[in-house]
Amino acid sequence: MNILDSVRVVPDFPKPGIQFYDIATLLSDPPAWRETISQLREKAEFYKPDMLMGIESRGFLVAAPLAMEMGVGFGMIRKKGKLPGKVLSYEYDLEYGSDVIELQADLVAPGSNIVLVDDLLATGGTMGAAVNLVEQAEAKVVASLCIIELEGLGGRDKISCPFEALLQCPA
Ligand code: AMP
Repeated sequence: MNILDSVRVVPDFPKPGIQFYDIATLLSDPPAWRETISQLREKAEFYKPDMLMGIESRGFLVAAPLAMEMGVGFGMIRKKGKLPGKVLSYEYDLEYGSDVIELQADLVAPGSNIVLVDDLLATGGTMGAAVNLVEQAEAKVVASLCIIELEGLGGRDKISCPFEALLQCPA
């Protein structure tokens, strides 16, 4: 089964020149979605994580069922201001301006092994920031995983841990 057949590729969204990889159609196709989670599980298990962390928002859709399948915990990395209690924050640069991601300070055990999960890697800015955020919690990011990696953007060079994706696709 080719997972990519179930991903809808939308040209010029959300702005001209961007090819958007829409996983809504993958999520709505149970055999293809099961196959996606199964292939990710194979990759994730190699790193023996204590916990998976998903990056808001589509990363949640991937990491939560994967963590359940693997019998490990799931945690959320969210945009600023969404999480209650004491949080750790990390600010990173965007093409225009900057963004802040957060994680609840007591969620991750110091010294634990974390695998980060998102739907897609483009420039690597989001995943790179998530690695730095989890490291602030004194946990170890043993790997990062995506369904799709966009080619030619140098995204994986921004990530200081092993990175794997199921599909390599044109940007
Ligand atoms: P980046 O930080 O540039 O690696 O962007 C990755 C994040 O933005 C992921 O959370 C993706 O969900 C989203 N994203 C970036 N580019 C695309 C794209 N072409 N299609 C779908 N999602 C994208």
